[in-house]
Amino acid sequence: MSPRIDLHTHSSASDGTQTPTELVVAAVAAGLDVLALTDHDTADGWPEAAAAAEQHGLTLLRGMEISTVHDGASVHLLAYLCDPTEPRLAEALTRIRAGRTDRVPRMVERLRERGSAITVDDVLLASAGTPAPGRPHVADALVTLGEVRDRDEAFARFLANGRPAYVDRYATPLADMVEIVAGAGGASVIAHPWGRHGTTALDADLLADLRERGLSGIEVDHEDHDPDERARLRVLARDLDLVATGSSDHHGLGKTGHDLGCNVTAPQELDRLLARAAAAAAASGRRTPDVVGG
Ligand code: AMP
Ligand code: ZN
Ligand code: FE
Ligand code: FE
Repeated sequence: MSPRIDLHTHSSASDGTQTPTELVVAAVAAGLDVLALTDHDTADGWPEAAAAAEQHGLTLLRGMEISTVHDGASVHLLAYLCDPTEPRLAEALTRIRAGRTDRVPRMVERLRERGSAITVDDVLLASAGTPAPGRPHVADALVTLGEVRDRDEAFARFLANGRPAYVDRYATPLADMVEIVAGAGGASVIAHPWGRHGTTALDADLLADLRERGLSGIEVDHEDHDPDERARLRVLARDLDLVATGSSDHHGLGKTGHDLGCNVTAPQELDRLLARAAAAAAASGRRTPDVVGG
């Protein structure tokens, strides 16, 4: 049987609800053979995930999902097997995380103006396990206070873009981050480029330009994409010689409809991704993480 491969998941090192160990155990239980941990803007979950993968016989890619911006719209860039200590990457991640932290009091203020009892300390408690606090942690604090039922309700009423407690934050320009990841020896893949959280600005011309800068692939099979979008993205990937991935974007109990393995990556696409990561690693001269069990 061909291996089942899920290349986009989150742990409690960002806004997932499972520890890295719990995530690895759940991945094995879900019948996955290869998993990538891709927490938002941090590699903090890597050591625990690597140890758990080793112990449970799972193949693990250490990755991240990095906050970037293109044309004023948020774009998430998956970065695999890069060296997070590479100076430009480390500096960018520090700046992005500072933007996340700075935003918390402003979101709290907006919520309090609307009658919420939430405090900054409530959010700090909800985000205690991560250096990358985000809206899901604000949502969790509202759930704890009994002001909303779940994250979905918090986003729909207050936190989604365009809702009253939405506050913008710093993100690195997409084209810059593609080059930074390549310079840090990693392979980059644009997460959910279209669909619900995507932007139509990511067209063939832009993707071709990003490919020149070192982009390795695009995430085609993702719950945010309908069948028509997936078909069109698959054609784009083929035409532009980009790797086409498929993944769950699992967040534990934090996001419904994103069960581990609900979308998977074809083995030959993983091979192409690993070849691009190896080429970037060699060209950069950086010491990049090995695939655990690979
Ligand atoms: P932030 O990192 O603060 O920009 O928040 C974005 C994160 O919130 C992403 O990881 C999304 O997966 C998550 N998210 C967006 N909408 C929802 C929702 N309705 N329910 C749960 N999580 C969500
Ligand atoms: Zn998330
Ligand atoms: Fe994302
Ligand atoms: Fe994600």
